[in-house]
Amino acid sequence: MASPIDWKISARDGEARCGILRTRRSEIETPVFMPVGTQGALKGVRFEWLEDEMDARIILANTYHLFLRPGVEIIRELGGLHRFSSWNRSLLTDSGGFQVFSLTELRKLTEDGVEFRSHIDGTKYFLSPEVSMEIQAALGSDIVMVFDECPPGDAGVDATRKSLELTARWAQRSKDRFHQLQRDGADAGRRPEFDEHQRQALFGIIQGAGHLDLRSESLARTVEIGFDGYAIGGLSVGEEKSVMYEVLDHLAPQMPVEAPRYLMGVGTPEDLIEGVNCGVDMFDCVIPTRNGRTGSAFTSRGKLNIRNAKFARDEGPLDPNCPCSVCRRYSLGYLRHLYQVGEMNAAILISHHNVAFFLDTMRKVRSAIREGKFQEFRRRFLAGLKENGAESV
Ligand SMILES: [Zn+2]
Repeated sequence: MASPIDWKISARDGEARCGILRTRRSEIETPVFMPVGTQGALKGVRFEWLEDEMDARIILANTYHLFLRPGVEIIRELGGLHRFSSWNRSLLTDSGGFQVFSLTELRKLTEDGVEFRSHIDGTKYFLSPEVSMEIQAALGSDIVMVFDECPPGDAGVDATRKSLELTARWAQRSKDRFHQLQRDGADAGRRPEFDEHQRQALFGIIQGAGHLDLRSESLARTVEIGFDGYAIGGLSVGEEKSVMYEVLDHLAPQMPVEAPRYLMGVGTPEDLIEGVNCGVDMFDCVIPTRNGRTGSAFTSRGKLNIRNAKFARDEGPLDPNCPCSVCRRYSLGYLRHLYQVGEMNAAILISHHNVAFFLDTMRKVRSAIREGKFQEFRRRFLAGLKENGAESV
């Protein structure tokens, strides 16, 4: 069956690579950062800004949250998540597994799937590879993720092996149900003008915690089943940063060259640069908007906290190197004032800048790769992040 995505590498610099990923809805330049619209919206940032100013081509939505509210029936009735939300560019949905496994007190895991209680009202639900595929078909996303088990970052060898074997069995079940749903026409994101091959795409997920040999084994088993793209799961889940970089360095270059590589739920600007350096193409993380809501801004000089008294009389922007509309118009002193008085615009404006900064950083990464100057860019960028001293991450 023809792949629903078209993926071409356009430039390389060491392991770092630039490419064009075409889904049935948009053309995406990679490496790409995908902003996270947990509830079908990016917190505090309107789609108009994402499209017109930041030119985001793909965002992520969370299956778990949309499954609980408003529920699959309502989204299906309203024509899938694109139509419901009015976001017409590409959408990637996660499988819900990661959120469910974060509910350690509220879940019961079996070979079949996971029974859990909603974090909202305690109602009992069941998620499995089949149910996750059904929900993601009803959401109609353009890229669907398999349902996997994510062990904690510090899991031992035996627990990790058991978990990756379960993940491999669930990957096959996900794929089987996924294809059946495509044949049955359950994909709510289909448009009448789409060709036969413009179905949803399905990505596999590699697990294995911090154990390099198990990561390689999980990779081999995932590739054997065969997917449209491959993701690295289970990083940035409580392990040391050095472990994450070690896994990336080991695993990413071994992943199929001819498919996009996606590092899930990562990370800080520094993590993105290091991921690209290992050959990763796609990233997502909630931190630009999560930090934006608490007055924390990512800048080319590192992280800064808008509450800091030293900004009270500062007429400069959040980041003089950022081209976003917030930096062009508003001063640090004004943003600090908004935050201190609890004005909702503080969260909105800082979130806007943070998302724009992440997308702009990836634009700069792509042009550095194309010019064969990625290592120079990486050195300069990482050194820049330390300029704010104690406030940097
Ligand atoms: Zn800005």
